[in-house]
Amino acid sequence: METLDISFDARHELTGEVGSVKCGLCGQAARGRMLETGGMLVRSFGWDCPCGALGLHAPLHDLDELYTDLLEAWGLKPREPDLSPPTPVGDSGFLSSVYVDGPALLRSLFAEARSQGAQVAATEVRVRLVVPKFSPPASIWDVLWARAPRPME
Ligand SMILES: [Zn+2]
Repeated sequence: METLDISFDARHELTGEVGSVKCGLCGQAARGRMLETGGMLVRSFGWDCPCGALGLHAPLHDLDELYTDLLEAWGLKPREPDLSPPTPVGDSGFLSSVYVDGPALLRSLFAEARSQGAQVAATEVRVRLVVPKFSPPASIWDVLWARAPRPME
């Protein structure tokens, strides 16, 4: 698995470049950037591949909230997930807690993207967020890739 350091200054602003990761669809190096648009995806991270694919950091437990923004960021029609409403977690003590079935949402998301003609893939990258005086251990990020169909194809 690739490892990536993403560095921030003391004001939590990004310093330097976001490193490239290998495209989940073609294996070329995809250039990283912090996203400035995209609803819930703002200040998340994306990787642009020369093949036209866009990889997006999307934690599976947040897929219910990111679902439509991911489709839109990929240049596809935004759709709501076609799943039953989230079920409150009865005895968790957190009233707002909902159980998010990440893998099911991912299958639904990829099926939706494919139905719109996109190619999709999921990869993982080990990321260290480096902040002055505090460096948490590396975590594994899910990166979801899609390449929208070209208009003439
Ligand atoms: Zn690619």
